Amino acid sequence: MAKWYAARLNCPHATPEGPCLDCPVCLQIGAGVFQDCTLLGVQEPVTIDAVREVRVRAAEAPHGGGWRVIVLAEAQFLRAEAANALLKVMEEPRQNLCFLLLAPQRGRLLPTLVSRGWVVTLPWPLPDLADATLPDDLKNWVEALDTFLGTGRGWFEKTSVKNSVDADLARRLVLTAQKGLAAALARRSSSECRLGARFASLPDSGCAYVDDVLAQCQRSLDLPTPVNPALVLDWMAVRLYLAVRRSLKGGRP
Ligand SMILES: [Zn+2]
Repeated sequence: MAKWYAARLNCPHATPEGPCLDCPVCLQIGAGVFQDCTLLGVQEPVTIDAVREVRVRAAEAPHGGGWRVIVLAEAQFLRAEAANALLKVMEEPRQNLCFLLLAPQRGRLLPTLVSRGWVVTLPWPLPDLADATLPDDLKNWVEALDTFLGTGRGWFEKTSVKNSVDADLARRLVLTAQKGLAAALARRSSSECRLGARFASLPDSGCAYVDDVLAQCQRSLDLPTPVNPALVLDWMAVRLYLAVRRSLKGGRP
């Protein structure tokens, strides 16, 4: 989407509907080699040194006739120092300069960055929501979590196995639960997405609570000093279980 937008700003044949996606400019942007489009944070987290370089580049006019576009992927991982350095150039941007900060949720970006931006919220792509499209390891964990939410059983046997959970798996599971919640809130959940179907039975207050729990898990997993990911998942599972139980009894979580 960020590349599409960069192409929209630079394609000489762009129309209000979008870029042509066929000309040299569009193709170069698609391949990540267009000189006025900088992509950061895709392979590795954006460092303070990278931001300093961005500031130098941001001061230059675009070489082509369009816009200089600087894309920062996974911008939620920007540390305070890098974010502050970025803030300075975002506060006084030169003409035809566009920063695109990509993050799973705006709440995970520093508020100072969000306040200088224009927020575009994209829906989760629908096909991704079906459990069948998940990789096998993750699918097993989703099943275990859903079973635990329904029965209160089978969870701790899984997380207590030594080295069964690493931070990456924990992040992916939290993200899958967030997608399920998004599907439930958008009334798009189906039986093909177990967590979505599970959360769809929650009242609005329960969904808000689950959203808070998942955001807190995510923050814990992104801390500079990592928290034990198995503990984060246990904490999450127990709270989600209680939310589901309370909704069955008609109470508030
Ligand atoms: Zn084009």
